[in-house]
Amino acid sequence: MTDKPILITGLSGFIAKQCALELLKHGYSVRGTVRRMAKADEARATLAKYCDTTKLTAVEADLLSDAGWADAMEGVGGVLHVASPFPTGEPKDPDELLRPAVDGTLRVLRAAVAAGVPRVVQTSSMVAVIGGHQHKRTKPFDEDDWTDADAPGITAYYRSKTLAEKAARDFVSTTGTSLHFSTVNPGFVLGPVLDNDIGTSAEVIQMLLRGKYPGTPRIHFAVVDVRDVAKMHRLALESAEPSGGRYVAVSEALRFLDIALPIRRELGRAARKVPSRELPDFLIRLIALFDPTARTILPDLGFKFRVDNSRTRRALKMEFIPVAESAPAMASSLIQLSLV
Ligand code: NDP
Repeated sequence: MTDKPILITGLSGFIAKQCALELLKHGYSVRGTVRRMAKADEARATLAKYCDTTKLTAVEADLLSDAGWADAMEGVGGVLHVASPFPTGEPKDPDELLRPAVDGTLRVLRAAVAAGVPRVVQTSSMVAVIGGHQHKRTKPFDEDDWTDADAPGITAYYRSKTLAEKAARDFVSTTGTSLHFSTVNPGFVLGPVLDNDIGTSAEVIQMLLRGKYPGTPRIHFAVVDVRDVAKMHRLALESAEPSGGRYVAVSEALRFLDIALPIRRELGRAARKVPSRELPDFLIRLIALFDPTARTILPDLGFKFRVDNSRTRRALKMEFIPVAESAPAMASSLIQLSLV
């Protein structure tokens, strides 16, 4: 453990706040980047409800600009690069995602190397692992699999996360830097939200609770609890494993319906609008004619995949919180915050 601050990019985000909480609870100093200082005040007020925030500071830096990154990295003992846009639908211009994701990651890495920061952990995603594969595939996905960013139907978000992780790994291997680099690749993140700035994955659960869907589409999800994602970032920072680790943050791969059912079971009346059945594919295709968000899931309809992250579990000694706990935890935090 270092007594230098750990820089977390995008402190205002759903996952980043949990990473800050995890580090502060473990005695680290944390410096967070935000695009606007007002967001840092909000994040601090939220975190103060759960831990001592005297060792939390913030600086302004945007992934689209060089300004602020050299100052942000000064004297830092490690970086968790979490920030990256995660929209609900397809942007009009894919560069809206690609530029902050890919150029932003390289900007963070260059600044980290220039400041002599020893370690960087990047928040990648399972969308950099599972995209563009044949639906008939039966082999479970593991740490060696990559999304084909040029496959038909790959969304701009899948592309942004895949190319950002590839760019980071290329940068580390071609610049000959001694930087210790690893990624945490989370599935769809469940678990408690801490405040109103809930992020895209919680918006999906919010819509289930509001009864926006009469049923769930026949798609599979790899899921994980945000508390485990935060813990894995800390463990990747502390791990004695060699540089280059790719840690697959997944508790289970299951049907969308299997996220909805434990919410209904645990929350009872409060979850009465959460669907209890799957919708046929033809109906989803019909909805997708009018709904751009539904359109983004069409390539995944009916794709049942499995995940084997035993290497990650062994390397970081992780035991994951099951969906039976993490899905209701997310739903009840939304209800407690009056966000449904
Ligand atoms: P949030 O939307 O809550 O957080 C995204 C963060 O990125 C925000 O802090 C946002 O800042 C910041 N950000 C966006 N664009 C820029 C930019 N140009 N410059 C600086 N900061 C920027 O999402 P999550 O917490 O869910 O996601 C965090 C990371 O985890 C992302 O990299 C995402 O791809 C990844 N991930 C998320 C999963 C999930 O299910 N939630 C699953 C797998 C990976 P601001 O508040 O100013 O908008």
